Amino acid sequence: MKSRLIFLGGPGAGKGTQAQRLAEKLGIPQVSTGDLLREAAAQGTELGLAAKTFMDKGALVPDKVVVGLVQQRVAQDDCRKGWILDGFPRTLPQAQELDETLKAVGQRLDLVIEVNVPDSVIVKRLTGRRICRGCSAPYHVEFAPAKVADKCDKCGGELYQRADDNEKTVQERLEVYHKQTEPLIGYYRNQGLLKQVDATGPIDGIFRQIEDLVAVGQT
Ligand SMILES: [Zn+2]
Repeated sequence: MKSRLIFLGGPGAGKGTQAQRLAEKLGIPQVSTGDLLREAAAQGTELGLAAKTFMDKGALVPDKVVVGLVQQRVAQDDCRKGWILDGFPRTLPQAQELDETLKAVGQRLDLVIEVNVPDSVIVKRLTGRRICRGCSAPYHVEFAPAKVADKCDKCGGELYQRADDNEKTVQERLEVYHKQTEPLIGYYRNQGLLKQVDATGPIDGIFRQIEDLVAVGQT
């Protein structure tokens, strides 16, 4: 069983959902840099507040901030059996730094799963998202519309679009992803660690592909 995993994928590719499901199934933590950053921001630490100014713009947070948080996290007790990194590394220098960190603590990366979705599909998914102001229920104008336009089915609250989900910001995030993260794909492929999953279909089918990859070599 492979239990030290990285999930790669662009914004809106669904890698967080898949990573969470796999983490529950394997009984290991899902280490999401988004969560780490949000917690740090909410706690108002220096690193957290620095991160927040970048996140508010839809930009990537600088390496030194993210690396510091991840290093602390994978060293914790609940990560002994394994972990799934979701949203990290995002750049080649981060990947190289992660390799060094793992070597130092005697851990080894088992598998890198790239959750692959075409940009045009991502744009449609993200720009159509709406969220209820009252209860935070998620909707999608095409794939999961509310019964009454712009009103929450559950509480009648107003539906809104997150600032991050407008088309310009989504395109910018995709560009950043391709430019910064795609070199990682070659890096991990060269190490024989990379597997790709076609993530345009239903969530359950994608998860089965991932389960198969994780179980390979299991005895
Ligand atoms: Zn609601």
